[in-house]
Amino acid sequence: MGLMDLDKTRIRKLRGPLLDWFDGEERRYPWRDDRSPYSVLVSEFMLQQTRIATVLERGYYTNWMNAFPDWAALASASEAEILKAWEGLGYYNRARNLQKTAKVIHTDREGEEPGSREEWLRMPGVGPYTAAAVASIAMDEVCGVVDGNVERVFSRLFSYEQPIATPDSKRRFQEISDLLVSPERPGDWNAAIMELGQFLCTPTSPRCSSCPVQGVCQALQKGVVDQVPVKAKKSAPIKKKEQVAICRHGEKVLLAVETSSRRRGLHRLPLLDEIEILGRQWVQVDHFDYAITKYKVGLDVYFADLPDPLAATISCDLPEDQLCWVDLSQPSDSWPAMGAPFKKALLRHIKRRQEVLPGLE
Ligand code: SF4
Repeated sequence: MGLMDLDKTRIRKLRGPLLDWFDGEERRYPWRDDRSPYSVLVSEFMLQQTRIATVLERGYYTNWMNAFPDWAALASASEAEILKAWEGLGYYNRARNLQKTAKVIHTDREGEEPGSREEWLRMPGVGPYTAAAVASIAMDEVCGVVDGNVERVFSRLFSYEQPIATPDSKRRFQEISDLLVSPERPGDWNAAIMELGQFLCTPTSPRCSSCPVQGVCQALQKGVVDQVPVKAKKSAPIKKKEQVAICRHGEKVLLAVETSSRRRGLHRLPLLDEIEILGRQWVQVDHFDYAITKYKVGLDVYFADLPDPLAATISCDLPEDQLCWVDLSQPSDSWPAMGAPFKKALLRHIKRRQEVLPGLE
């Protein structure tokens, strides 16, 4: 069976068993209880580049919906509030784009939500996958989604042995997704095909013996399941080094405000070469690696105790309005929103001090 070589019988053999399997699994997610365009869009933005377990276990979705229950509440929130609610999920432009969309809908469109996949595509940060997910799940539009799970499932179902990351492959996967989607239950069909990829048709060791569509799976019949999808080799991460400073005065530590577009408004530890402390030596106290986009960053953490809080700011390259102090005696939840590596460095600093100076932190 080729990618577009699908007759009605074969489509039936796919749709029926897959939807039956989906109904039987009954996975409960909070965003499935309220299938409004707002709740679906929030969940889809959160789940881009983040695992479902992370979003659920740490309560990101529920906390967000409590803080910003609708377009109006999100549109009127401050940037600091939305970054704090998103803290730890990373890729903060998702939160900013979500708020931009809320402003377009609440303010420019006076509350009128986009009415189709095409209209959703015009919202800030909404790509073809997200537009199809919201239109099908929240509005029953008959359109198919294509994400990494769907690409893997289709590659195997149709034994697609071309590289999947090319524009031609992307176009063909979208065509097949739009063709296969159930007219009666488009949202459930899209969720079902993605869940098949998440739970059975996994990247390694797919559970074909439990698969509801094994009878029509071309890769299984040809014995090439482990050879598809065909992917281009990943290039090795680029290594970088970063040196940051923990300048501490009593319980307070100096923070800088990010100004780069990706992390704008978040807080971070100042870089070592942004700060000079007269008459004091930096001591390296920690090192760990973190990954961001195509980089593997080795973070060196230096420390200095300041007798005078001004000593740090006087010799700092950053303007005063880009500096603030965080009080380490307060719970970390109440600290200003900061990038995960910097928060981790501060929490490890507190832990080390507790081990060395028990009872003082
Ligand atoms: S039979 Fe195996 S390879 Fe084919 S769709 Fe099912 S889980 Fe994936």
